[in-house]
Amino acid sequence: RKAELRQWVSRPTLSSDGHRVELAANIGKLEDVQKALDNGAEAIGLFRTEFLYMGRSELPTEDEQFASYKYVLEKMEGKPVVIRTLDIGGDKELPYLDLPKESNPFLGQRALRLCLERPDVFRTQLRALLRASAYGNLKIMFPMVAVVEELEEAKRMLEDEKRQLVASGAPVADTIEVGMMIEVPSAAIAADIFAREVDFFSIGTNDLIQYTMAADRMNETVSYLYQPSHPSILRLIRHVIDSAREQGKWVGVCGEMAGDLTAIPLLLGLGLHEFSMSAGSILPARERIAALSHAEWKTGAQQALKLRSHQDVQAFVQDQLKGEP
Ligand code: PEP
Ligand code: MG
Repeated sequence: RKAELRQWVSRPTLSSDGHRVELAANIGKLEDVQKALDNGAEAIGLFRTEFLYMGRSELPTEDEQFASYKYVLEKMEGKPVVIRTLDIGGDKELPYLDLPKESNPFLGQRALRLCLERPDVFRTQLRALLRASAYGNLKIMFPMVAVVEELEEAKRMLEDEKRQLVASGAPVADTIEVGMMIEVPSAAIAADIFAREVDFFSIGTNDLIQYTMAADRMNETVSYLYQPSHPSILRLIRHVIDSAREQGKWVGVCGEMAGDLTAIPLLLGLGLHEFSMSAGSILPARERIAALSHAEWKTGAQQALKLRSHQDVQAFVQDQLKGEP
């Protein structure tokens, strides 16, 4: 089985009717880059930078961060690398930041919210990213955006740091795509508004499902509500993809759903451009996509969106897939 999958390592990702999509890897640690390449990743779709900040007693310096980002960019040799700015809070804590205890951390000062409150922390990361941009194809992504003002402020700080670095003579890439995660329902519902403000979206289905279903992703007792194929989630995803396409922007999914073999036909049919997943899921996903007709799933996805439940959608997909690997 393993040997069978190896044949897909260096192939492009094409549906049976020749529609091209990109399969990317999610990484956290630097060792993950080699694993991504070994598994045929065409890009890094999500670098979770919080791992550079965790398991230590003080903030990583600008130079330390620069070295890590540069390493990933160089190793990917010009392939796209989406680096997400710090997403701390929620379930991920940094004791040395000494943040006040919150009664609802997942609804609290998480990710970009914290970064905008702590410009010292945020600007250090932005400078490290900008300096690393000279070494590859960097795209910067902001997590947990809920309103356009947050995005505007983050972009303003990024521009500000870029101007200062360029003025100091540091090499910085001319164009760096700037995108946002779609993982808060407000951003998904108003995706048509956000699409004008960014170069790309990446849908974080882990959080988007949690917030849409109002079910803590860490709480076993409500895990039955974690339903990627629920029509509500699929409709949000359709709106996000359609909104981005209207503005000529690209869309990825970087939550677990991207590597889910039952969800892939639907995401392909909805017109998703990039699927980002853990390295081990890439080759099975490429094999699955090669057996799917994009044209047929365009229709199939629209049918699925009219069904009444996650279970019904799953059964529908399984039924359509009969006879395929
Ligand atoms: C997500 O929310 O789907 C996501 C990819 O981000 P994380 O799992 O790091 O919250
Ligand atoms: Mg998330």
